[in-house]
Amino acid sequence: MTLMQGRQMSRSSQVIQPQSRRQFRIQGQVQGVGFRPFVFRLACDLGLSGFVRNEPQGVLVQVQGDLASVQRFTVCIKEDRPTLASYDSLTFQDMAPREELSGQPFEILASVQRHRSRQKTNKTVTVDTAICPDCLAEMRDPDNKRYRYGLINCTNCGPRFSIITDVPYDRPNTSMANFRMCLPCMQEYTNPRDRRFHAQPTACHDCGPQVSLVDPQGQPIEGDPYLKAAAMLAAGRIVAIKGIGGFHLAVRADDAQAVKRLRTLKHREHKPFALLCRDLDVASDLVHLSDHAKIQLQSNTRPIMLAMAKQADQFPGVNPGTDRLGVMLPYTPIQHLIFDACEQLDCQRVDVLVMTSANISNEPLIHKNTDALEHMAGICDAILWHDREIVRSVDDSVLMSMQIEEREEVILPMRRARGFVPATLPLPTSVATPGLCVGGELKNTVALVRDNKVILSHHIGDLTHTKSYHYFQQVIEDLCKLHDIKPQWIAHDLHPVYMSSQYARTLASRWDVRLLAIQHHHAHAAAVLAEHKITEPALALVCDGVGMGEDDSSWGGELILSNVADFYRMGHLKPLMLPGGDSAAKDTRRCALAWLAQLPGVDIPNSDIFSRLIPDPASRMMLANMLTRNVNVNASSSAGRYFDAAAAILGVCEHNHFEAQAPMALEALARTNRRELPSASMYRIRHGVLDMTALLECLILDDTDTAYGADLFHQQLARGLAELAITQAMQSKIDVVALSGGVFCNTLLTQRVTALLRRANLHVYVHQQVPANDGGLAYGQAAVASARIGGPV
Ligand SMILES: [Zn+2]
Ligand SMILES: [Zn+2]
Repeated sequence: MTLMQGRQMSRSSQVIQPQSRRQFRIQGQVQGVGFRPFVFRLACDLGLSGFVRNEPQGVLVQVQGDLASVQRFTVCIKEDRPTLASYDSLTFQDMAPREELSGQPFEILASVQRHRSRQKTNKTVTVDTAICPDCLAEMRDPDNKRYRYGLINCTNCGPRFSIITDVPYDRPNTSMANFRMCLPCMQEYTNPRDRRFHAQPTACHDCGPQVSLVDPQGQPIEGDPYLKAAAMLAAGRIVAIKGIGGFHLAVRADDAQAVKRLRTLKHREHKPFALLCRDLDVASDLVHLSDHAKIQLQSNTRPIMLAMAKQADQFPGVNPGTDRLGVMLPYTPIQHLIFDACEQLDCQRVDVLVMTSANISNEPLIHKNTDALEHMAGICDAILWHDREIVRSVDDSVLMSMQIEEREEVILPMRRARGFVPATLPLPTSVATPGLCVGGELKNTVALVRDNKVILSHHIGDLTHTKSYHYFQQVIEDLCKLHDIKPQWIAHDLHPVYMSSQYARTLASRWDVRLLAIQHHHAHAAAVLAEHKITEPALALVCDGVGMGEDDSSWGGELILSNVADFYRMGHLKPLMLPGGDSAAKDTRRCALAWLAQLPGVDIPNSDIFSRLIPDPASRMMLANMLTRNVNVNASSSAGRYFDAAAAILGVCEHNHFEAQAPMALEALARTNRRELPSASMYRIRHGVLDMTALLECLILDDTDTAYGADLFHQQLARGLAELAITQAMQSKIDVVALSGGVFCNTLLTQRVTALLRRANLHVYVHQQVPANDGGLAYGQAAVASARIGGPV
C-alpha cells in the first residue's frame, strides 16, 4: 500500500542518463523520529524514484535515478538526519536498475508490522525530548493555532518513552489514543512535508489534552492557568506542575521562607534541591559552566547539571552543606509558559524556581493525576496539570561537570533517566542470549541485554522502600514487554539479601533460567571497562559505600585486577570494624569510633574524643561494649565509611540524612582550605592493605582546623589509593586504571588520584555514560554476565 507518493520530479527524463539503483538498510533510532519523511523529502528533491519503509529491524530504502543523484543521496543520508534519529548501522548495496521504476514518484510504503513478521523486531523506543525551537516559536506566536498550547510537540520533540504503552510506536499505543485528531492536525499528520508527519502525540487546543490549574482538592481555579500559577509562585506559594515523566513541586528559589516551607511539608530537610532557570544566562549567573556543560544543558535531553556555585548560599536552604548547585533549563512547553507568564505579570519577575520531584522521600515519582491529588494535597497550594496520562514515571537525569585537570572536563552521569532512557548502551563482548540484570539495592536500575546491547532502565530508587520495590518489579515487567524480551538468564548482586537478588531468584525459578551472582565491585569495574570497550585486563580502583565481598565481608575501598569476565582482589583499605554494622552508614560517629579503634595503645572507651563524639553516657556504654567485646561489629573496607569517619572526627557531619551527605560536606569544606598540605605520606601499604592510621593521628590533633583536615584527608587518601594502584601496575605490567564507585563522584579525590596515576604513565578511565554510583551497577552486571555466557548473537 502506498501511504504517500512524491511529486513527479523526474529531471532524468529530460536528459537521458545512465540509471543507478541502490538499497539502504538503516538500524538504530530511526522509527518515530521523522526518518521516513526525511528520506522522502531528500529523494524527491533529488528527483529519485523508489521507496522507504519501516521494517521490523529498521528502515529499508531503495532509490533509483541518475548516478550523481544517487551518490548525492548516499552522502546526505549518511551525514544528515532528523534531530532525534541516530544510526547503529547503515549499509547499502547497488542493484540492477529496473526500467519500470524510472521516472516514478518516490513512495512511503506502509510499515511491516510486528505481528506479521517472525523476524527479530526492532524495538527501539525513543527517549523523551525537550520542546524544539520550532514548536517554541509557534507556541509564542499569537497568530499560530498552537499559541500558548501547553502540550505542543512535533516529530522532533516531545514525549515518547513516558507515553508509550506498546510497540510499534503508533498513536493507539500511546496515552494519546483517546484523543481524536481534528482535521487540521490530521492534515499535518498525514503530510510527509509537514514537521508533524506521523508525530504520534500531535495535538492542538481544539483536539488535544487540556492544561488546567486546580486547587489541592482538585477544584478548578478560574482564569488563565499559567498566569494564575505564575502569580502564586511569585507570591511564594508551592505549585505542583505536571512534567514529562512525573510531577514536580515548584517554588521560587529566592524566597527562603517558601523554600523552608517546602522542605518542611515534603519532609526533606537536608537534601539539595534542583533549580529550573529561565534560560542559559540565568543559569550561568548561578554556576560555573564550561562550554561543554552549556551544550549538555541546552541539549534536547535537558538534564540537571551539577556545577560549582558562583556564590555560597545564594539561595538559602536550597543546597545546604554543598558548594554545588543543580541547574536545568525548561524542557516542557508548560515550563516555558510559566516563565513567560512570570514575565508578563506586574509583580516581581521570577526566573529561578526550585524544581523538586513530587514524591514521598525515596518513593517513586508521582505521575498519575489521582496520586497527585492524594499525596500532594497537603504539600502544594495548587496543581498545574493536564489530561494526557504519563504511562511511566521518569525522573530528571542528573549530570555533573567534573574538572579532572586544568583543561580537561568530564561530564559524569549521576542519575540516568529522562532523555537518556531507553537509548541503548554498547557491550564489548557478544552474547548469544537475552538476559536481565537486576542491579543493586540503592539507586537501583535494571538492565536488559539483547543483540550485544544494553537497555539500562531509568532510576528506580532505594529498594528497601516497599513502593520502590514494587516499582522495580513493574519496571522489569514493563521493559521486557515493551522490548519484547524473554530473558534466558538473570544476573544479580552477590549479596543474597538484597531485595533485587531475592527477586532474581524468584524470577529465575519462575522462568526456569540461569542465575549469575556478580560481585558488586567487579560489576562497577566492568561498567567502566565496557563503556570504554576495554576487554583486556585492567586495574580498577572501586570505592563506594558498601558491597559484599567474596569473603562475605563488606568491601568498598578496593583495587582489583579485572576484565569484563573475571576479577582478582589486589588490595584494599584496612577494614574498619563498624559497631552496629549497617547503622554506621547513617551515624558517621560509629565510623569514627571504628577508625579510632585502629590507633595503637588508645583506650577508646575512656578517651576524650569518644566522649566528645558520643556525649550520651548510655550510648557510649553500648558502643564501648560492642567495640571492646567485638560483638555486633562488621568489618568493612569501605572508602565511603572512611569519609564518614573523617567528617565525624572533624565535626563536619554527624548524621547522613541522605546518601553521601557527610562526604559531600567534607569535599566542599576541603575546597576552602588555604593552608599548604604536607609532602609526607601519612599511610602505609603492607601486603596490599592501605592503612591510614598516621593520617588519623594528624586529624585528631587539637590544632587541626577543619578545612585543612578535610583537604588533608582527601590528599592522603588519594595518594594512598594511587600508590596502591601504581605498585600493582608496575608488578603486573598493566597500564590501564579504571575508576568507579560512588566515591569517585567526589571531584577532589578523582582529580588527585587521576593526576598521580597519570604522573606514573598510567591511562585513567572514568565513567561517561553510566553513573559511577550504583545506578550503573546493572550495566556492569550486563557486561560481566555477557562475557561469561558469551557466544555469537
Ligand atoms: Zn517540536
Ligand atoms: Zn488538533
